[in-house]
Amino acid sequence: MDTTDAARRIEMTFLRKSGYLCGWAWKTIRWNCRGEPTGQITVKIATGSDGDNYYMELDYKTRSGDEEWRPMDYRVRLESTPCRYGGKRWWFRCPVVRCNRRNSILYQSGDYFVCRKCARLSYASQEYRSRRIGLLGRIMDAEKFEMTLKRWYYRGKPTRKHRKLLRMYGGKSPMEAVNAVAAALGMF
Ligand SMILES: [Zn+2]
Repeated sequence: MDTTDAARRIEMTFLRKSGYLCGWAWKTIRWNCRGEPTGQITVKIATGSDGDNYYMELDYKTRSGDEEWRPMDYRVRLESTPCRYGGKRWWFRCPVVRCNRRNSILYQSGDYFVCRKCARLSYASQEYRSRRIGLLGRIMDAEKFEMTLKRWYYRGKPTRKHRKLLRMYGGKSPMEAVNAVAAALGMF
């Protein structure tokens, strides 16, 4: 089974055809399956000329099984390349910071919308399959935690939060953590 086919996705082609890529848009995308609503997501899209801070902000709720719904709110960077015959083409940058691949479709995988390759992470590893958030969620959570980290070292030793971060990334030393993420994202 190709898991990504069953997943919800956001296609750049859809955003373009719907006229969402002209400056500023605040829209709700709804998914249906045989006429039944299966989910919705609110997107705020900034593709105006205000500097080069182009993004799509995603706002939705997620849950696994019978859990409480959890609100999700994060940005995906957008980027444009010039077309051969004028105009420009827009791309998503994968929101997994260490992946950052340019792509035109984002797939929902667990809690997040990410590139096709990262979407496979949640399913790829048997080891993580039984865990609630999966490998992808772990990396995303670690990256979010990393942004809140103010002090990395104290008297030459990693701080408690720094050590926690390394564990979140799946290693005890920076090298181990980097290798774990790189291996997961297929960077070797
Ligand atoms: Zn990715």
